[in-house]
Amino acid sequence: MAAVERALKTHFGFEKFRSRQQEDVVKAVVRGDRDVFVCMPTGAGKSLCYQLPAMLATGITLVISPLIALIQDQVEHLKELNIPARSINSKLPAGERGQILADLESESPLLKLLYITPEMVASPSFQPCLNSLCSRGLLACLAVDEAHCVSQWGHDFRPDYLKLGELRARLPGVPCVALTATAPKRVQEDIARSLRLRSPLTFSTPVFRKNLNYDVIFRDLLPDPYVHLHAFAKEALGGNASEKGCGIVYCRTRESCEDVAHRLTKLGIVAKPYHAGLKAGDRTESQADWMAGKVPVIVATISFGMGVDKANVRFVAHWNLAKSLASYYQESGRAGRDGLPSSCRIYYSRKDRDQLNFLIRKELARKQEKRGSEKEQDKAPILDFEAMVNFCEQEGCRHATISQFFGDQKPNCASACDYCRNPKLVRAQLERATALSTRTGPAQSSEPRGPFGFDPKLYAGGKKGYGFERYDEDWEDDAEDDSEKRKKEFGDLFKKQMSLRKVSGGPKESFVPPECVCFQMLIVH
Ligand code: ADP
Ligand code: MG
Ligand code: ZN
Repeated sequence: MAAVERALKTHFGFEKFRSRQQEDVVKAVVRGDRDVFVCMPTGAGKSLCYQLPAMLATGITLVISPLIALIQDQVEHLKELNIPARSINSKLPAGERGQILADLESESPLLKLLYITPEMVASPSFQPCLNSLCSRGLLACLAVDEAHCVSQWGHDFRPDYLKLGELRARLPGVPCVALTATAPKRVQEDIARSLRLRSPLTFSTPVFRKNLNYDVIFRDLLPDPYVHLHAFAKEALGGNASEKGCGIVYCRTRESCEDVAHRLTKLGIVAKPYHAGLKAGDRTESQADWMAGKVPVIVATISFGMGVDKANVRFVAHWNLAKSLASYYQESGRAGRDGLPSSCRIYYSRKDRDQLNFLIRKELARKQEKRGSEKEQDKAPILDFEAMVNFCEQEGCRHATISQFFGDQKPNCASACDYCRNPKLVRAQLERATALSTRTGPAQSSEPRGPFGFDPKLYAGGKKGYGFERYDEDWEDDAEDDSEKRKKEFGDLFKKQMSLRKVSGGPKESFVPPECVCFQMLIVH
């Protein structure tokens, strides 16, 4: 397969493959004797897995991609590399479309890659072209990118992707390559079934990352959760908060972003909030300061992190539960990209769980009401959330829970999670939490309760009317509304901290926490 290596260099300008897996996939697609299913994380270089084989094949590779913007991006990039790639979409001027179709109808088309949206590939106007290519044996491969869009169990379902199964069935001799980022097992199986892949060769990057240490701390059991978080951050950053590493704290609400950032800063670790409620300028500044290492910790809603690739994130803490185990894996996975030991921790709270559970079900009910019917797949967000809760509540290896969720074998955790390190402590924590909830929980209360064991009035959008639609960005709870005051206080404190740092030359812990607390005594384990 020397031709493969040559093509990598001459057409794409790469000296070598990104990974062994990329190489294996490319070679399997070049062979072209089997369907291929690829699950590799974002950024792993999945496009090359069909682009390079397209250059070596006789005929055309048809690439299905969900968004015109994504398609245009790729086609532009390929054009720069002098690779004959075009796209047919609804935005294309008739003249250009005519040119492309004429090339495809010609005896030996020049085009190697044709990008197309799922609606277009199913449209009647494209069928003659498709049939003609097929009958002349000029369809080399069908590549379905972002294949998770075909699954109604996924988060990005596109009804038009469902038509691809039928298309696939009409092209019996043409190998199909389906590509997706890491997806839950349920979604992977659904993709293979919906696209009618025939005993596909499957390549999936193991989700297990041995340098990440996972643990779960029950927040309601802590005398002072902020002090606990501070101690965690401090330790993860090597006691040297302003230099080497950095960290992310994820919160569900704007209010708690502000609150946690404020508390951490007050305790001596400079932290900045990041959420949609900030002015665009402030938000950019928070991110830039954190990226540049000026501010070690960013306290953010999940809107933060898309496209952020920082190697030295030493910890990711979740102050609130993620909405699914898949999101949690993705968010916590921003830690330790450099391969060095890093910590991922959830500050779990059963109250928090109940709120989120309520919001998820409320959103589901709203959707069903709008549609006027129920569907099997409606359960997906609930199942995904249950997986998140089980991760926290189960007595078992945290890494194993994640791996199994994504359909991988149980990994060798080697004490990289709290359970494998000390199962007794995990059990003790669970028991204390259960004792606490029977003392203070809904069962003991005389208040009328909603269907999920708590007062729905409290969560029916809150006093600001924020419903579930915004829950994962900026759903706000009913905390007292002193955010303006707090913001100013925070701003002042922040400036003071930064100036202290400048004077002392940075790296040292130059700030003495206002109250002198003995952290170790307050830590649960
Ligand atoms: P994915 O679809 O898996 O998210 P992409 O196909 O968009 O990833 O590729 C991510 C980046 O990696 C692109 O900039 C691409 O040019 C680059 N890339 C792909 N293969 C290689 C390689 N063998 N060597 C270096 N860079 C590569
Ligand atoms: Mg991609
Ligand atoms: Zn473990």
